[in-house]
Amino acid sequence: MSCPMNCPKNLRNGPCGGVRSDGCCEVRPEMKCVWHEAVAGSLRIPGGVEALRAIQLPVDRRLVGKSSWLRVARLRGGEPA
Ligand code: SF4
Repeated sequence: MSCPMNCPKNLRNGPCGGVRSDGCCEVRPEMKCVWHEAVAGSLRIPGGVEALRAIQLPVDRRLVGKSSWLRVARLRGGEPA
């Protein structure tokens, strides 16, 4: 599994154009590009490649530092986010 929040650019529909030829990140060369890892992982999961083709919304920077779980719980409870 690979999380796009670990991408230094927080790209949701990566990879960026700077992936190194060895699959490492252009910003942090000591780590593998999360999208390189995501594609490799998707090949091991039935339906994984198709799932990666879904376009994701960009990160909502207004929510940085806030709990996503509490937000989901409040929305389900009818409270404003
Ligand atoms: S190389 Fe991959 S992990 Fe690094 S910034 Fe680009 S998309 Fe993100």
